[in-house]
Amino acid sequence: MRRVSVLVSGACGKVGREVVRAIHGLDDLDLAAAVDKVEVGKDIGELVLGNKAGIHVQDDLQAALSDSSPDVMVDFTTPQAVTPNALAAIEQNVRLVIGTTGIAEADLEAIRGLCETKNLGAVIAPNFAIGAVLMMHFARLAARYLPLAEIIELHHDRKVDAPSGTALKTADMIAQARSESPQPPGEHLPSRGQWQQNVPIHSVRLPGLVAHQEVIFGGLEQTLTLRHDSLGRGSFMPGVILAIRKVMELDHLVHGLELLLDL
Ligand code: NAP
Repeated sequence: MRRVSVLVSGACGKVGREVVRAIHGLDDLDLAAAVDKVEVGKDIGELVLGNKAGIHVQDDLQAALSDSSPDVMVDFTTPQAVTPNALAAIEQNVRLVIGTTGIAEADLEAIRGLCETKNLGAVIAPNFAIGAVLMMHFARLAARYLPLAEIIELHHDRKVDAPSGTALKTADMIAQARSESPQPPGEHLPSRGQWQQNVPIHSVRLPGLVAHQEVIFGGLEQTLTLRHDSLGRGSFMPGVILAIRKVMELDHLVHGLELLLDL
């Protein structure tokens, strides 16, 4: 069995730590390097696993890429860091699995273009929780019959982007699926949320939350509510591991975990 070596960028962050833990427990994946701006020089195993792994946190991504020559870079960092990180990795022929949200459309296209030029695989997904991907899939089905919908997304108070990438993507999927694009009732006031393709999105940021989303559809004398809750950051790991394995077979950018599932 070919083992896949993985550099984790943002390895000391909330999600990055889960990625390190998830990789550690698997026979077919190896942790090649850990990159972060914090905890630099410390052993990532001591920080995350409770015993030494012999891999020290580096803050220089270029050096980490050249020293460890990973097959895949997993990135859970910040909207500012992710695009330069991704372009640096592709330049060094390293495949991408990106969970960082808030990537601008132009940056996404730049990453897509470079992947095409290099025939290199990449997976970028605003939500790696398989339950959330199913929620988006069910929302697309529902929108064909109940075109009026609103989204409430709820996240922890340190999330830097709003609305969430998942909410924006869900709105886009609803818009693509419905045959008409009805104007939501009421004026376009701030209290009516941010409208994406005529789907109002309401963002809640509070301590205690992890990542949650409701999609409410309204029709004649009925509503349908879809809700997904990520109760911990472990919820993203089956999707991340699936993407690491699948990206080895890809030669282009795939945007969305749903494209890797048999839905
Ligand atoms: P976090 O706890 O703040 O972790 C991000 C880590 O990346 C921090 O340690 C940060 O250091 C570090 N960092 C910043 N710039 C860097 C760079 N240039 N190179 C390497 N590391 C760098 O955030 P999080 O909760 O783990 O979330 C990370 C991202 O993943 C966010 O965009 C979030 O929305 C997204 N996310 C996606 C999913 C999904 O399923 N797709 C799920 C959850 C979260 P500093 O603290 O010094 O900045």
